[in-house]
Amino acid sequence: MGRENCVFCQIADKQIASEMIFEDNDLVAFHDINPQAPSHILIVPKKHIPNLSSIEDEDIPLLGKMLDVARKIAKENHFGDKGFRVALNEGKDGGQTIFHLHMHLLSGRRLVWPPG
Ligand code: AMP
Ligand code: ZN
Repeated sequence: MGRENCVFCQIADKQIASEMIFEDNDLVAFHDINPQAPSHILIVPKKHIPNLSSIEDEDIPLLGKMLDVARKIAKENHFGDKGFRVALNEGKDGGQTIFHLHMHLLSGRRLVWPPG
């Protein structure tokens, strides 16, 4: 699936509404529509990259930026006081449902481990 039918490309292009909380040239961050914790935020590159396995060398800086945005959002919202989790689901067994690279930032409750 390319950009055309991709929900996260459409959110990044503002063709689908989202509760966006961050945007720069490379990334957007918005609230997950089906939150699994009191705070559940998705951090998404604007570039359509299906998943971690399909990144190319030129995309490597984006991975650092995604974590940095997670860090900043966590800091602004004091998620670090009690803790938070960053997750990236890959492929069928990893539970990936949207094939546009994204990172989950979860906070606000005690998260179990292993995640099931
Ligand atoms: P994953 O299972 O890692 O592929 O995660 C995809 C996530 O995208 C799920 O947590 C969904 O709830 C979320 N999601 C799907 N559609 C939307 C949407 N339109 N706006 C916000 N989040 C969405
Ligand atoms: Zn996409």
